[in-house]
Amino acid sequence: MMFPHVGDRFRLVYGRNLLPELTEGLNNYLVVADGFVYEKYKDQLKNEHKVYIVKNVEVATLENDVKDYEGVDAVVAMGGGMAIDAGKWMAEHLGKKIHSVPTVLSVNAAFCYKSAMRVNNVVTYMGRIFPEAIYIDFDIIKGAPKYLNVSGAGDLLACLTASYDWKLNSMVTKSHAYSQEISDGAQYLLGMLSENIDNIREVNDEGIYFMCEAFRWIAEHSAKMNHTMWESASEHAFFDNMEFVCKKPFLHGQIIGLTVYFMSLFQDNQHERALMMLKRLGIDVTLKGLDITEEQLRTGLLTLRDFTEHEGLRYTIINAKPITGEWVDMAISKYKKDFDIA
Ligand SMILES: [Zn+2]
Repeated sequence: MMFPHVGDRFRLVYGRNLLPELTEGLNNYLVVADGFVYEKYKDQLKNEHKVYIVKNVEVATLENDVKDYEGVDAVVAMGGGMAIDAGKWMAEHLGKKIHSVPTVLSVNAAFCYKSAMRVNNVVTYMGRIFPEAIYIDFDIIKGAPKYLNVSGAGDLLACLTASYDWKLNSMVTKSHAYSQEISDGAQYLLGMLSENIDNIREVNDEGIYFMCEAFRWIAEHSAKMNHTMWESASEHAFFDNMEFVCKKPFLHGQIIGLTVYFMSLFQDNQHERALMMLKRLGIDVTLKGLDITEEQLRTGLLTLRDFTEHEGLRYTIINAKPITGEWVDMAISKYKKDFDIA
């Protein structure tokens, strides 16, 4: 086993040709999916089902749309992070079981008991639902563009900055229960992430297996601790603010790659390691790659503390010291040098 056994809330089924196998045992179910994903895999779905194609994950949208599906017996969420989160939200509101079929590993949505929704465009984590099982079909995952799967490693790299914030939090506000065992485990996870970079880049079976086991390890602990502060802290706060500043959706693991870069620098914590890992993974965190301007990045950093306080986010390095204009200038010029940005 790659990670120590923690619990059994997130059952993983690995294999190939899993959709017919799963849906053979279901009837009158609701498929919540991305449009292109449904088109690609609909022939593999057995028995009677309805389909909901995800538009967005605004709570207002889903509250309105969920009403049409009250009679279904189960939910199958199929797609990327948005489809999985919408599926989780709908299953919870319909009071039905959910079977998750992630088609890409760009985010850990399938392994999270909360759903990352939006309320007026601001990320809001809500709910508590555990899947019947998570189906990892190697061929389906490999059918997604490589860079999307690789970007998911950015969400694992978040452990680097988040576990530091968690330790800090444990010494100040203690808002999130601390565990040295999990903190050490997060360092082991980062080490294994380094060892698996080639597998992850190739999106081979070993790389997919590693990423899913890492997501599962985080998820099982989160079910026990009722939080995930070793993998979601200042870098996720910075991501939330970038989404708020830029008013556009991001590829999750990719923007987290950027925010780990800056928050590890701000923490003075394993920053060069984070940089090396981002480069070796090939996650594109340039302005162009993220389709953001230098001004937006600057604003995102300069308003980060206000955003964090306004949103009532957990205590992290962002609360511990001021993000000054001088620091932001230094950080952005280092960033441009590290990633050859003119
Ligand atoms: Zn994340």
